[in-house]
Amino acid sequence: MDQTKIDALRAQPVPAFSHLIEGKHVPASDGGTMDILSPIDGQVLTTTAKGTAADMEAAIASARAAFEDRRWAGQPPAARKKVLMKWADLIEANALELAVLGVRDNGTEIGMALKAEPGSAAGTIRYYAEALDKIYGEIAPTPSNFLGMIHKEPVGVVGAIIPWNFPMMIGAWKLGPALAIGNSVVLKPSETASLSLMKMCDLALEAGLPPGVLNAVTGEGKVVGEAMGLSMDIDVLVFTGSGGTGRRLMEYAARSNMKRVYLELGGKSPHIIFADAPNLDEAAKVAAGGIFRNSGQVCVAGSRLLVEASIHDDFVAAVAKAAEAMRVGDPLKVDTAIGAVNSEVQLEQNLGFVETAQSEGGQVVTGGGRILQDTGGYYMAPTIVTGVTPDATLTQKEVFGPVLGVTSFSTDDEAVQIANATVYGLAGGVWTSNLSRAHRMVRDVRTGVMHVNTYGGADGTVPLGGVGQSGNGSDKSLHAIQKYINLKTAWIKL
Ligand code: ADP
Repeated sequence: MDQTKIDALRAQPVPAFSHLIEGKHVPASDGGTMDILSPIDGQVLTTTAKGTAADMEAAIASARAAFEDRRWAGQPPAARKKVLMKWADLIEANALELAVLGVRDNGTEIGMALKAEPGSAAGTIRYYAEALDKIYGEIAPTPSNFLGMIHKEPVGVVGAIIPWNFPMMIGAWKLGPALAIGNSVVLKPSETASLSLMKMCDLALEAGLPPGVLNAVTGEGKVVGEAMGLSMDIDVLVFTGSGGTGRRLMEYAARSNMKRVYLELGGKSPHIIFADAPNLDEAAKVAAGGIFRNSGQVCVAGSRLLVEASIHDDFVAAVAKAAEAMRVGDPLKVDTAIGAVNSEVQLEQNLGFVETAQSEGGQVVTGGGRILQDTGGYYMAPTIVTGVTPDATLTQKEVFGPVLGVTSFSTDDEAVQIANATVYGLAGGVWTSNLSRAHRMVRDVRTGVMHVNTYGGADGTVPLGGVGQSGNGSDKSLHAIQKYINLKTAWIKL
C-alpha cells in the first residue's frame, strides 16, 4: 500500500451520489438528499439521494422489465461470463480508489478494506462467473416411459439489502450468484456506507451489464428498504444486517407476496481457548484480531472469549497486550490496525454495553472508552471485560463493536454449554492440539462455521450462514447459488 497514493485519493472531493435506475443516475423523485458523514472526522463527505418508496418501485419495475425481456437471462452463458469477468477486472483495476472511498464512508482500516472490499468482491464475482456455465439441470431416475427433467431457473427479481461494515464484499456475495444465474437485482445499500458499492454498480454497467439488470436505490431502511420488503414484485429477498430488521423483512414478506427471505444476521461467536492450544501466544494475537479488526464490526467477530480456567489470567493478559499493541486511529494510514467506528450512534451503543457489563459485575481490563475525540471522528479503544457470566448482557446481546467479553470454563462440556447458551449460531473457534477434542467442538458447538487453531478468513470456497437467530441460507461457495434459482420439473411421457 502506497501512503502517497492513498493521501492523494483522500484529498479528492466526493461528488454527490444518486440512484442507479435503468442504467442512469437519477435523483430522488422528490429531490431529497441525505448528508453522508465520514466517521474519520465526523464531517460531511457528500450527499446521496434520499430515496422514496416510489423510487424503489421504479427500480423494481425496471429490474422486472429487464428480466421479462430476457436481456440478461437470455444471453448465452459464455456472454454473461464475459461481462462478469470484465466487471471483476474493473473492480480490481480501481481497487485502491474504491477502497479509499469506502473507508472515507465507513471507517474500516485501509489494510483490511483493500483486501476485504474490492479484493474479495472481485474474487467473488469471478468465482460465480466461472461457475455459471457449470451448473447443470438433472434427469430424474424415472420409469423408462417417462422423462423427468429438473431445470434450474433464475428466480426473477432479487432484492438485496446490504449493511455498512463490508458493503462491497457482502454486496458481491449476493450480486455474484444472483447475476450469474440470470436474475435482475435491486440493491439497497446502507445509509451509512453506500458509496463504494454504488461505484461498483457503475463498473458493472461499464463491463457490459445491460441497463435495468442491476438497479440501486439509496435511502433510509425504513422507507426504501420497507418498500422493497413489501413489494409484490421481488421474488427473493437477501439480507445481511441486524436481527430486528431481519424479523421485519419476514413480516414484510408475509404481508405481501410471501417472497423467499434469506437472512445473515448477527452473532455472538464463542472463541474457545483450551490450555493445550498449540501456540498460546499466537492464539492471543488471533483472538485480539478476531474481535478488534474493523472495530469489531464483523458479523463473525469472536466476541466471546471462553478460556480454560487454568490459563485464564495469563491468557487474558496476553490478549490485552495484543489489543493494546493494535494502533487505533485514522483508517487511511497504512499502519493503523483499527479504524473508526461507523457512526456516533454505534459508538454510543458500544459504550452503553460496556457500562451495562460493569454494572453486571464485569471488570474492564483494558480500553472501555471513546478515544481521539479531538479528531471529530468516532474511535473506541479495544475493550476487554472479564468475569462475564453466561447470562450477562455481554454474553447474550451482539455489540457489533470492539468489546470482548471473557468467561472461564473448566471442562469440555462446560465450554460447549456456554458456547451454545445464546440465540445465535454464526461462527466460533477452538484452539487445542487434541484432534478428537477439536472435532468434538466442531460437532457440538452450534454454529455455521467453526475455526480450529485459527479465526476468521474462511475464503469464498466455503459457505457462510448462520443457524438459530443468526439466520438462514448461505453466502459464498456454490451452495449460495440455491438461493437464486427455482427448480422446475418437466414430466414428459415418452
Ligand atoms: P445495522 O444495525 O447493522 O445497521 P440494520 O439491520 O439496521 O443493521 O441495517 C442493515 C440494512 O438494513 C441497511 O441497509 C438498512 O438500511 C436496512 N434496513 C434498516 N431498517 C430496515 C427496514 N425497516 N426495512 C428494510 N431494510 C431496513
